[in-house]
Amino acid sequence: MDRYRIPPGAGADLSAIDPDSKELFPGGKDAGRERLKALRVELRELQELLYAEGKHKVLVVLQAMDAGGKDGTIRHVFRGVNPSGVRVASFKKPTPEELAHDFLWRVHQEAPATGEITIFNRSHYEDVLVVRVKELVPEDVWRPRYEHIRNFERLLAEEGTTILKFYLHISKDEQKARLEDRRDRPDKRWKFSPGDLEERKRWDAYRAAFEDAISETSTEHAPWYVVPANRKWYRNLVISTVLIDTLRGLDMSYPEPGEDVTKYVVV
Ligand code: AMP
Ligand code: MG
Repeated sequence: MDRYRIPPGAGADLSAIDPDSKELFPGGKDAGRERLKALRVELRELQELLYAEGKHKVLVVLQAMDAGGKDGTIRHVFRGVNPSGVRVASFKKPTPEELAHDFLWRVHQEAPATGEITIFNRSHYEDVLVVRVKELVPEDVWRPRYEHIRNFERLLAEEGTTILKFYLHISKDEQKARLEDRRDRPDKRWKFSPGDLEERKRWDAYRAAFEDAISETSTEHAPWYVVPANRKWYRNLVISTVLIDTLRGLDMSYPEPGEDVTKYVVV
């Protein structure tokens, strides 16, 4: 999966990654879905172990253009995990109280606890994305935030958090198709927001903001992955695989009791 990881210091060139790609799983959709089922079983086991061992914290950051598939990723990749140990934190337009604080204030309190996986559906990155594109604060406020973000994530990492950040990479045509689908399908219409059409007009500005954010903040301890996301099944497979490989790398084990408990008789 190194194919999609942005090395520290390397400029992220989104045009170098094809949103339609399925190169790592050429088998196609049906085989891909079967593979995802197997990966879900593995993820469930690793998450159980993470919870039981109680040593590590895991933070998964999801960012994308509108209709990029953040909600679908959460639904499909994490289906079947134990809800006791997995939490989703969604970051919306900040409340007046949140706006009255520094931009990381609301984010830090949602960071994962020991034994937990927390998924950020949007994140502190909005503060260098939408905030930059819509000029909600001046440049001399948003530009220093890259460094604040690097420092914040380093703090989390050094205190035991494993961080994975995914940019769900869809094409402009795919976004059009998905927004039309939301408009036309009664079961999806609740998600249709005319505001998304306004954001779509700023596609190029968002893309530039994403490239800068990813380039500025992909580090060893908090890497960005640019995931081809036009094909949902492929997106799910790539993210599951990165997550599972990372959890395996934590080398976890079930805690040993301090004494031989087999001597106890349960009456
Ligand atoms: P959704 O994820 O579709 O529910 O939309 C959430 C909205 O909140 C999006 O339009 C985001 O751009 C917006 N949002 C999230 N974080 C921020 C932020 N820090 N500043 C301004 N808008 C934000
Ligand atoms: Mg939306």
